[in-house]
Amino acid sequence: MEANLKKRVMIIGGGYAGVSLLHKLKNEIGIELILVDKSQTHLLQTHLHKYISGYYSKDDITFNHEKYCKENSIEFICEEISNINYKDNYVISRENILYHYDYLIIATGSVSMFPSQIENVIEYTKDIKKIDNLDFYRNKFQKILDSHDTNRSVLVVGGGVSGLQIACEIAYTIKSKGLNKDNIQVTLIEGMDTILPGMDSFLIEKSIQRCAELDIKVINNLFASKILEDSVILSNGDEISYDMLLFVIGAIGNNIISHDENIQENPRNQLIVDDYYKVKPYDNVFAIGDIVQAIDSNTNDFQAPTAQASRMQAELTAKNILKDINGDTLISNNISNKGILIDLGGPNCAIGRVLNINLSGKIALWLKKLIYSLHTKKFN
Ligand SMILES: Cc1cc2nc3c(=O)[nH]c(=O)nc-3n(C[C@H](O)[C@H](O)[C@H](O)COP(=O)(O)OP(=O)(O)OC[C@H]3O[C@@H](n4cnc5c(N)ncnc54)[C@H](O)[C@@H]3O)c2cc1C
Repeated sequence: MEANLKKRVMIIGGGYAGVSLLHKLKNEIGIELILVDKSQTHLLQTHLHKYISGYYSKDDITFNHEKYCKENSIEFICEEISNINYKDNYVISRENILYHYDYLIIATGSVSMFPSQIENVIEYTKDIKKIDNLDFYRNKFQKILDSHDTNRSVLVVGGGVSGLQIACEIAYTIKSKGLNKDNIQVTLIEGMDTILPGMDSFLIEKSIQRCAELDIKVINNLFASKILEDSVILSNGDEISYDMLLFVIGAIGNNIISHDENIQENPRNQLIVDDYYKVKPYDNVFAIGDIVQAIDSNTNDFQAPTAQASRMQAELTAKNILKDINGDTLISNNISNKGILIDLGGPNCAIGRVLNINLSGKIALWLKKLIYSLHTKKFN
């Protein structure tokens, strides 16, 4: 097909959602694929705890967009998109360059949430979703490990899946170096009455057990209310000192300005999409991944923003883009959560609940590794 007859399918964001979509569409001859990402690399957020701890190298968690795109005849534009003109089908980059599209897929993910009610939160915390910040934490942790001082403290605020995985990985690494809580105390602070709030009791119980095994001090029912240079003030007035502070209390959509009154967003900056992941009223614009507020087709609840959901949304959207181009009926949302796997630090410790079956130990870890391999294989 002549290049100018091909549909220009532009994906903004090469995270789990964007990369999975590229992978599904890369061999389609009727389309011209363009990836736009402000970063040179795809960052494997699901395994960033293993990078902070020093267990994984940068090559294990980052994959070069340019190389992948070159090998698959995809155009790669390394730019940040700062504006979308939905009505006239173009986007504008931070460098003020204008790019046209026939189909646009917004897959810009999310950024960590730093509520302004928490005093100084911006000043003393960093978004763990950025590779430079991960380097900062990795180096800092290495220095703490090397210092051989006593009474060092690593504080993780947020006891959801991300915070728990980070706390366990760090605590496991401390133990594996022959150090203990008198050298470095890991503390996990969760504002609700349990870690993994809202999750299955099996996962909660196993996680509490693992935290105890790893000497992680878990504090529930208290919020961080003020951050100082080397301590955190909790909602009851208690002060906890830290040498390293990680703030992982949730994420908000990483939306792009459009000045378009038709585009609907929820209070977490996520785009509201229809049953086909289209950004209404624009028939040629889809959104997938953490940036969307999507519904679980089984439970009718909101889908959790996960790599798993991003991949499934990408697969559905790939089919629907091809159907749309061919004038066929689109497939409506059929995505439901298959479960969760959580790494609890160390070579044998993971837990999960997949298709309503509880998993723990080697099998859970093996499944997690399998998912990692299936995703990263795209880049080999
Ligand atoms: C510590 C941690 C552990 C996790 N563990 C799990 C897990 O075990 N299982 C699971 O399923 N999920 C897990 N998640 C969640 C999962 O990582 C996210 O749901 C997933 O990364 C979302 O993918 P995405 O493609 O929507 O966004 P991202 O992966 O965030 O990618 C967005 C991309 O868009 C680019 N971008 C953003 N804005 C622009 C712009 N304006 N212009 C150009 N490019 C732009 C970014 O550079 C980035 O490459 C975890 C998350 C964290 C933080």
